[in-house]
Amino acid sequence: MKEYLLALDQGTTSSRCIIFDRQGKILSKVQREFAQIFPRDGWVEHDATEIWASQMGVAVEAMLALGATAEDIAAIGITNQRETVVVWERDTGRPICNAIVWQCRRTAAECDALKTSGVEPMIRERTGLLIDPYFSATKLCWILDHVDGARARAERGELLFGTIDTWLIYRLTDGKVHATDPSNAARTMLFNIHTMSWDEELLRLFRIPAAMMPAVKPSSGLFGYTDPRLFGGEIPIAGVAGDQQAALFGQCCFDAGDVKNTYGTGGFLLMNTGAQPILPKQGLLATVGWQIGSEVRYVVEGSVFVCGAVMQWLRDGLGLLKNAADSERMAMKVSDSAGVYLVPAFVGLGAPYWDAYARGGIQGLTRATNKYHIVRAALESMAYQTADVLSAMQSEAGARLSALRVDGGASANNFLLQFQADILGIPLLRPACVETTAWGAATLAGLGVGVYSDTDELRRQWQADREFYPAMGAEQRADLLRGWHRAVERTMKWAEI
Ligand code: ADP
Repeated sequence: MKEYLLALDQGTTSSRCIIFDRQGKILSKVQREFAQIFPRDGWVEHDATEIWASQMGVAVEAMLALGATAEDIAAIGITNQRETVVVWERDTGRPICNAIVWQCRRTAAECDALKTSGVEPMIRERTGLLIDPYFSATKLCWILDHVDGARARAERGELLFGTIDTWLIYRLTDGKVHATDPSNAARTMLFNIHTMSWDEELLRLFRIPAAMMPAVKPSSGLFGYTDPRLFGGEIPIAGVAGDQQAALFGQCCFDAGDVKNTYGTGGFLLMNTGAQPILPKQGLLATVGWQIGSEVRYVVEGSVFVCGAVMQWLRDGLGLLKNAADSERMAMKVSDSAGVYLVPAFVGLGAPYWDAYARGGIQGLTRATNKYHIVRAALESMAYQTADVLSAMQSEAGARLSALRVDGGASANNFLLQFQADILGIPLLRPACVETTAWGAATLAGLGVGVYSDTDELRRQWQADREFYPAMGAEQRADLLRGWHRAVERTMKWAEI
């Protein structure tokens, strides 16, 4: 009996591999960072070959550390940084240039032009997305326009496109499988989330030859087998999902109305909206959660650009902290933030404001303000931003949430989670397994090969490590939120000339 599930978690700054047993216990975990390439201001690239090598490296190390062979692995699940674009040669598997990373803003002008041309409502209706350089389409178009001969070669069928999941599957199967799943496809701005296929009109609009697009397969089910030379035997690749959707799955948010929030570098709030997409207003996105068999689950997503990253700024920019975890002890040194609000709009504001010209600010300083107030205000900003996205989401869904599941690096902070519960007025649940992204990929794969019979089995296994209950009065909550919104107001349009 093959016992283990191996998750490849290919993130923006590191490649990780986690091997789980079927109960979700972590047996082996290896992580390796890789180079971030910044060729110009606002441009971000990765070397796709380095990504592949680091991902392969951590997988082999994780197996060696456990003494596991291919025989012991029931299936591989892949989860990945989303939207990042790789283009490679069909014949050799060699990338024709660096991967363009989701953070890269190089196509901002193209996106402005697209908006002016009036295609946004059509794109929004079909893809669930807003026009932004964040998504893959304009990045892929940029490569075809700027890499020597790329467009002609793509038209001759010599080049292949993929997001990171596709690239890893291609390499793992030694070029036999060129495929993605709908949760990744839905982030390209080329995928029609209603018909669940590449949209011909969008491919035409972005001048992308259909021949370079991967096949779209259900998120759970067989994608292919690893080349036997890699792990000394064939292992089925049977689960694929973008990182945020994988985390939603790993949190067992299987039903419409289930919500999770990830407190990572950024913050990502996702709500399962069931079998039909809801096209939200208020700066939220509609996207695909996952597909199992023919069943599709849609989600609404709201992203906060700077969440845990505000702690890095306090540490590296201001020198107020030794490490992020220190913030909890410091925030508890004072009984409140003494009217201080910190709005970390360092790169503008995401959902629900979408103001690219907002810039950060600290409001309400007095002579009595000390560093503990600032640290506390920074942690509180993570909760306030989440509350704003959740409130937009609830008004879209027309329903009030009963509880929020949380994960991500900063969810280790008990002060943050208690304050979050207070500000939302609902309980928060932190799972025993905080590696929800990798676990989501692992369980999609497990379902795909029959390690689990259905999602109910996974739901029964999910365990909370700790629950946080609101303890704040409604009046205090309203006062604090009012102060926060006044502070946000003052940061908006700051850099607009
Ligand atoms: P990502 O996967 O987005 O790189 P993680 O989920 O690993 O991020 O979370 C890391 C982020 O969480 C960092 O920005 C870090 O500053 C923040 N963080 C980590 N631990 C804590 C903590 N105990 N309190 C507050 N923030 C934290």
